[in-house]
Amino acid sequence: MTGTSRFLFILLGLITLLLACPLMAEENPQAGDTPTAEQAANSVDTTVSDSSSATAASVGDEPLYPMSPERKAKLISYSRFRNIWRFVDIFLSLGILLLILFTGFSARLRDWAAKAKNKFLVAWLFLILLLLTDYLLNLPFSIYRGFIVENNYGFLNQTFLQWWGEDLLGLLLLMIFAIIPVWFLYRLISERKLWWLWFSLGAIPFIVLVIVVVPVVISPMFNKFEPLKDKALETEILALADKAGIEGFDVFQVNASKQSDKINAYVTGMFCSKRIVLYDNMIKNFTTDEIKFVMGHEMGHYVMNHIWKGVGLAVIFIMLALWLTNMTIHRVIDRFRDRLGFDKLSDIASLPLLMVYLSIIGFIFNPLTNGLSRYHERQSDTYGMDISGVSGEAAAIAFDKLSVYNLSDPDPHPVIEFWFYSHPALKKRMEFVREYRP
Ligand SMILES: [Zn+2]
Repeated sequence: MTGTSRFLFILLGLITLLLACPLMAEENPQAGDTPTAEQAANSVDTTVSDSSSATAASVGDEPLYPMSPERKAKLISYSRFRNIWRFVDIFLSLGILLLILFTGFSARLRDWAAKAKNKFLVAWLFLILLLLTDYLLNLPFSIYRGFIVENNYGFLNQTFLQWWGEDLLGLLLLMIFAIIPVWFLYRLISERKLWWLWFSLGAIPFIVLVIVVVPVVISPMFNKFEPLKDKALETEILALADKAGIEGFDVFQVNASKQSDKINAYVTGMFCSKRIVLYDNMIKNFTTDEIKFVMGHEMGHYVMNHIWKGVGLAVIFIMLALWLTNMTIHRVIDRFRDRLGFDKLSDIASLPLLMVYLSIIGFIFNPLTNGLSRYHERQSDTYGMDISGVSGEAAAIAFDKLSVYNLSDPDPHPVIEFWFYSHPALKKRMEFVREYRP
């Protein structure tokens, strides 16, 4: 994901995290995922590069579990790569935004867009040009991270053109929809002193709308969602839902294998669009008991209203971040006005600077937002154990499989976990379910 889209997601209220509560996701979505619901869904995110492409190629049909020594070596190299990339990614996206700002290019884009005359169209045209610039500057890196590396580790089931097509579709959707919060934001900045407060409050209905609409409108543009084909499994899951007292929700399977071999499940949507989604890869590789635990975990997010709580937390976070921005950004604009080519925040050309601010603040807040997320995940693991009634061993194997199939490091460095992991480390989750007594 590029710096621009990352910012927009922060602006849209951490939607990438809110759209879905996936079974596992170690961090915010990143390069290679399309900037849509896919990100939330695919948030298991992984990648690495290693030279043995021969083994990677055969990953497809053979069961990978239990883990072979070769797979273990791959897992280690993949997680090393990812840890490095976490930082590369931050500096890269900030660097691109600063380049756009301090070369005066943002101001130039605004001048081009100004030909549109109508105020709204000027803002929209500027946003489109900015998104395009940012996308192109980032493209070599996102191809490397999202396609080449993923491919080297044997995850991808797409050709380059298929992958790129989906990436472009994501960009297009962003160009169409991102204008809503951006327009709203700049109107408020120019009209209200407490713009950060009004924006945060106004974001609530917008975030809710996005969560309702994305699973039914946007996600189906990328994948096929259908009722579970395995009717015996469906019966088991419905019985579980009954036990949990959940009514009016759907369980879908999604052909995630179209893009990648990774495994996940997530709960998403609100009101009539709420649903649990299972990757076809999971149905293929997990036993019924393991899936029951996973379903129990997802139902836990449901029953404990984690999506709604997430919206509340996101709004508080947006408010705090925008308030901090407002306290400091005007001085920076004043100091560098000649280089930047704009002299006030209400100038749309300041958008990349706002992105820089929110990216940095978001990074600093990471331990807090991820800490809260890990707390929810632990709650859901507990709930999953209680409701599914499966053995601790079955639940532990489910986590172990996630680690093996997704090449996810089960035991990351504590600092990495603290800062970047939205889910507890898999090793901790395994220990927890093994020792758990209802
Ligand atoms: Zn979860």
